[in-house]
Amino acid sequence: MGFLEGKKVVVMGVANKRSIAWGCAQALRDQGAEVIYTYQNDRMKKSLEKLLDGSEFLVECDVANDESIKQAFETIKDYTSEIHGLVHAIAYANKEDLQGSVLDLSRDGFALAQDVSSYSFIAVSHYAKPILAENSGIVTLTYLGSERAVPNYNMMGIAKASLEAAVRYMAADLSPEKIRVNAISAGAIKTLAVTGVKDYQKLIQLSESRTPDSVGVTIEEVGNTCAFLISPLSSGIIGETIFVDKGVHLS
Ligand code: NAD
Repeated sequence: MGFLEGKKVVVMGVANKRSIAWGCAQALRDQGAEVIYTYQNDRMKKSLEKLLDGSEFLVECDVANDESIKQAFETIKDYTSEIHGLVHAIAYANKEDLQGSVLDLSRDGFALAQDVSSYSFIAVSHYAKPILAENSGIVTLTYLGSERAVPNYNMMGIAKASLEAAVRYMAADLSPEKIRVNAISAGAIKTLAVTGVKDYQKLIQLSESRTPDSVGVTIEEVGNTCAFLISPLSSGIIGETIFVDKGVHLS
């Protein structure tokens, strides 16, 4: 029997089988949880459906739109009065803001990346809160580029720094209500999102070369940590950013 038997967890951000959110969903399911999926748009829905068997509950949610988020969580509330976890694995920045110099970032590009990659974490948690059970967990995904100047990660590094700060403030707000908020700082993995970063191959190669066995972290390894952080097994961890990168951050 898994440690999430009988629990329901909302997972946001599965684009395809390479998505970190998919690794999280699988690990949550392996531990007995029912996963409720949200998708960005019809294109993502089609892609997601290919991974599922048709029995799962799916809801559209564009996190750049408050009405869409509100509607999504109302739909989830109609389906189940209570959820036990929320996984936010969503980020976006314009391609031109993931290369060159940060001095060339535009006001609009900055606002867009912060909105989708950081503010959305606050917004979805706001709308999820009324149905989050006691002892539930909220998890988001971040990257080392929040604290180091990783070549080309630029705008996303700035957005991730903001996201990690949001994790700490939200954790302080929600812990009295017995809801834990944490982040996973994953190593570089080849997903759709990472291909937006110029020379992303170098980012991945660098990450792989710094692991003990030259094999980069997998979405399964990130997913297992996510399942642990969602569960009450991690009751002592609040407002933390946990590296799941096979030690890349050490050097
Ligand atoms: P991915 O492309 O598989 O997932 C990104 C998801 O964001 C997609 O499902 C996309 O639909 C969703 N999204 C973007 N804009 C949205 C919007 N307006 N509304 C709703 N959904 C939206 O890539 P991934 O690498 O699995 O990314 C998941 C998270 O992991 C991101 O926060 C990313 O920054 C983070 N992360 C990735 C890596 C990596 O190397 N891949 C490393 C550390 C952290």
